[in-house]
Parts: sequence; C-alpha cells; structure tokens
Amino acid sequence: MRGRVGYRHAEPYLRRDFNSRCAYCGVHEQVKGGPQAFCIDHFKPISKSGPVNDYANLYWVSIPCNMIKHDKWPTSEQQHQGYRFADPCREQDVGVHFAETDDGLLQPLTACGEYHVSTLRLNRAWLREHRRDRTQKWERLNEAYQLQIELQHSIEARPTDDATRIMQRLLSFLSEEIQGLKNELTVAIPMW
Ligand SMILES: [Zn+2]
Repeated sequence: MRGRVGYRHAEPYLRRDFNSRCAYCGVHEQVKGGPQAFCIDHFKPISKSGPVNDYANLYWVSIPCNMIKHDKWPTSEQQHQGYRFADPCREQDVGVHFAETDDGLLQPLTACGEYHVSTLRLNRAWLREHRRDRTQKWERLNEAYQLQIELQHSIEARPTDDATRIMQRLLSFLSEEIQGLKNELTVAIPMW
C-alpha cells in the first residue's frame, strides 16, 4: 500500500479481521445495511502523525464512529494521566475500561474508559437502545431455552392426549422463536 489512498486496498482484509464489526461500537455491518455504512479509520490520525498505509493503524469502523472520532487524539498531558483510546487490537480485553449496566449504559472504570466512551460518544441513544434491546433478547432466549427443556421433559413423561398435542405445537413454536432470537443476536453488538 502506497500513496495517499493506498490504504483503501486493505478493505477486504480489514472486514475479515474485524469480523465485519465496528472496532469502536461493535455494531455489525448487517445491522447498518452492509459494508457501505462502514469505512477505514486511522487509529492514530494522520494529522497527529499516524502512519497512512500501515495496516496495524487501520481499523474497520462504522461511519458515525469515524465522523465522531475524526482526528481526535489525547494530548501528551492527557496521555500522562491515562486518558487515551482503548485499543481493541492491542489490548486483550478492552472491557476492563468500562462496564455495561442493565439498561445499556457504558460506565467508565478507568481514565482510558472515560476518554474512550466520552470521545467516541458510545452512549449515544441508538447504541444504548441497541445494547439494552440485545440484553433483553438474551434474557428471553435463556428463558425460552429453559421452557423448551421443561416442555420436552413433560411431553416425554406423558401418554399421548390432547394436552400433549398442544404442548408439541407449543414446542415447535418455541423452537422457531428461539431460532429467530439466535439469528438476531448473531449480528447484535456483543456483550462487553
Ligand atoms: Zn461504530
């Protein structure tokens, strides 16, 4: 990769390496209508002497995150105090910098988390609602799994009668609901 826009050739590799998700908010391309809603971000901005064509400085991100981040970078004074972006490529678990509440809010746990969450505006309404909704779906999925197991046991234990036939219909309904939830959760923002 050379020149001013050479880094654009990295797109297919970045999509693969970032699992088609935004490096910052975790949103999946599919939820946003495809890869056209994403772009390549220079983790360390070019204007702050970040390398232009170094693959290790290129991140696959959603367009809103890219626009919000723009050329923001902590000053050396801020860096000295621990304020910086969490780096999903060089840190084993960026989740140590913030925790998610039941209603989808990301609460910073470190100076890095504070800088990261506030600078990238990771508590913007859409993301927060998506995370809250995803957590509720996980809870419903767990409940549905539990019901499925109980229903299966119950059907096996009873002789065939009307109630059992209804239970069997209920079981297939439940299985379809479970599959639907699983499909949605596959592309939801992961649990931090
Ligand atoms: Zn994003």
